Amino acid sequence: MNTPKISDILGIINKKFPFSLAENWDNTGFQLGSPSGSAQKIMVALDPLPEVIEQAISAQCQLLITHHPLIFSPLRQITATTATGKLLLQATAGRLALISMHTNYDIAAEGLNDILATRIGLHDIQPLRISGHAELVKLVVFVPKEHLSVVRETLFEHAEPLGNYCNCTFSADGNGTFQPLKGAQPAIGEIGKLETVEEQRLELLVRKERLSKAIRTLLSVHPYEEPAFDCYPLLNETIPYGLGRVGRLAEPVSLKHLADRILHKLGCTAVRFVGNPSHTVQKVAVCSGSGASLLQDAVRAGADLLLTGDIKYHDAREAEMLGIALIDAGHFPTERIMVEAVLSFLDTSLAQNNFTAELLAADTETDPFTTVMAQPHEGINTKENQ
Ligand SMILES: [Zn+2]
Repeated sequence: MNTPKISDILGIINKKFPFSLAENWDNTGFQLGSPSGSAQKIMVALDPLPEVIEQAISAQCQLLITHHPLIFSPLRQITATTATGKLLLQATAGRLALISMHTNYDIAAEGLNDILATRIGLHDIQPLRISGHAELVKLVVFVPKEHLSVVRETLFEHAEPLGNYCNCTFSADGNGTFQPLKGAQPAIGEIGKLETVEEQRLELLVRKERLSKAIRTLLSVHPYEEPAFDCYPLLNETIPYGLGRVGRLAEPVSLKHLADRILHKLGCTAVRFVGNPSHTVQKVAVCSGSGASLLQDAVRAGADLLLTGDIKYHDAREAEMLGIALIDAGHFPTERIMVEAVLSFLDTSLAQNNFTAELLAADTETDPFTTVMAQPHEGINTKENQ
């Protein structure tokens, strides 16, 4: 096991959550530090706050990965007279590198919005606002007949579903030939002798960004010393990706019930909602952080409800007029769930790449908003006391 460099961590993140997926206005990716620097100890947080940077430096971390980028717009100076300058100087003094995984992580498959959608119990999850399309590759491998089922079943996890069908593969009979050369350690056959083996051509669709993982799995299970496989780029219709998600709850529930569920699932102190509390909802749109701008997308997708944070008064009035419910669970609670998810992703990916590093969650950041709850009879014209 090796200690990763900052550049290795960037590569690992980029493979799964490509930085190229980020929105144009965003400034995600490598923010501060040297690519060749060690990343032996890594902290993950939502925000690059002074207390988080201080905690990372005191814990002797070399790298802090946050969701929100510290540098958003171009800087003309780095001085202690601006908030960003102060934080950059603080991180530099502590030799702390910074990486942000922001809208690339919001958009990518298995990123923040998929995590949020799954956390509240959605199924059949699709992007809410399409911003691009992922490419597919046809992976073809030649397997001796008696090993077909084990290779096929092991590759199932990488096979791209076709609509509502998963584990989609195809196989056909054929004969493979090969002649082991000096130095080979053939699973079948002898050095210098031409072999003909009954093989199966096994094929499946794989997302381009998952191809290397699929090949690693293939190599780990294929019996041959040198498995023969091909990767064909395809011109098929590609898979959409984008901001937010829309999916369905297994059972329809009341808006109030779902608001309660989200309160607990996200560990919020309070959630606000817009709409009739007893109104039934099943198709749900979500956008972590600040997603009220996706209101029209949610309506177009036929969602009964949009869950997000940072909802303003006029967004609420617009939603009432459009007949769609809103749940505001807060920017912090809908995004802080990324810390646990990124740590788990790094833990798995580092091991797969033969790296070892110490991974920590920042525990010094809190929601900047504190909620004071009124007793039901004290509220002014809320739906509960009318
Ligand atoms: Zn955010």
